[in-house]
Amino acid sequence: MTGRTTDESRRLAKRLAEEISRLAVRPIRLMEVCGSHTVAIFKAGLRQLLPAQVELVSGPGCPVCVTPNEYLDTAVAYSRQPGVIIATFGDMLRVPGSSSSLAAAKMAGADIRIIYSPLESLDIAAANPTKTVIFLAVGFETTAPTAAATILAAEQAGLANWFALSAHKLVPPALRALLEAGGTRIDGLILPGHVSAVIGEAPYRFLAEEYRMPAVIAGFEPLEILQAVHSLARWLRLGEPRLANQYRRVVKPEGNPVARAVLGRVYGEADAAWRGLGVIPASGLVVRKEYQRFDARRKIPVEPEAAREPDGCRCGEVLRGMISPEACLLFRQACRPENPVGSCMVSAEGACAAWYKYGSGRWQG
Ligand code: SF4
Repeated sequence: MTGRTTDESRRLAKRLAEEISRLAVRPIRLMEVCGSHTVAIFKAGLRQLLPAQVELVSGPGCPVCVTPNEYLDTAVAYSRQPGVIIATFGDMLRVPGSSSSLAAAKMAGADIRIIYSPLESLDIAAANPTKTVIFLAVGFETTAPTAAATILAAEQAGLANWFALSAHKLVPPALRALLEAGGTRIDGLILPGHVSAVIGEAPYRFLAEEYRMPAVIAGFEPLEILQAVHSLARWLRLGEPRLANQYRRVVKPEGNPVARAVLGRVYGEADAAWRGLGVIPASGLVVRKEYQRFDARRKIPVEPEAAREPDGCRCGEVLRGMISPEACLLFRQACRPENPVGSCMVSAEGACAAWYKYGSGRWQG
């Protein structure tokens, strides 16, 4: 496992893998929804440790990956407007849009600043009162409360030149859409720990109740992931679809009500477009009427180019667990982390980037 893993952990991991092998009497296909799980699984070499009949597939839980080109094209178009400063996390910079990227716009002279906290974008706005600062607000339930708090802070600071270009997304509606769409077999879900820390357990109940889909909220340590796989294999064997929270040291059953209150104050639910999944009902967040003066789309006219997907990129199928990145003809060829063709190769949490970096890894036990 990792360098910090003790002999005891290795023994436990092997024992869990043996038990999983015994429980999985037929091929089972489990989706790790979250990109952080994908990376943890690869880093520890868990795919190699698990028996051949247990397949792990990556899901749509990488926010940069699921952000559609229309959003990127809009951000690029804003960046080209005179007097605009774009404030963004670094991942977004290299994501290819339809014909350009923020990195290319920056090279061409656009004022694009990398930030590490949304609050930094407020400092940039305060320091540049004659400029228009647009913060790129992308992410799931994990980061959306901070973006909401930043909008409240902008209001408190009386900033008139700060705006958010929001594309926050909600995980449970995407899971429902994934299961409704079919097209790929999924026998169980490893649910995202960080998202769950905000939303709690209740929003996932439909998985077992409506779709008979077992699911586990899991931590990110190799043993925690193996434990989740073990539970799923056991319930599948027993024919008992259950929802379990096995990350209780972080995820409270009720989630984080304070974070959700901030979120609910600033944002309301709306349909949202996901790369690979299309428009999913009530799967996104839009700024409420009371805060629309901070909504870039409402306040600053822009004309992005018509969005189109890169030729040959199969990111959408990767995000739905239909194919592994290696099935894409561009993987490791035209598409590499230093020259990504699609969004799944950009973020460290993207499935294609993880397969590229760790795909040949072996269990370190
Ligand atoms: S390898 Fe690159 S081109 Fe292929 S699906 Fe992944 S991101 Fe898209």
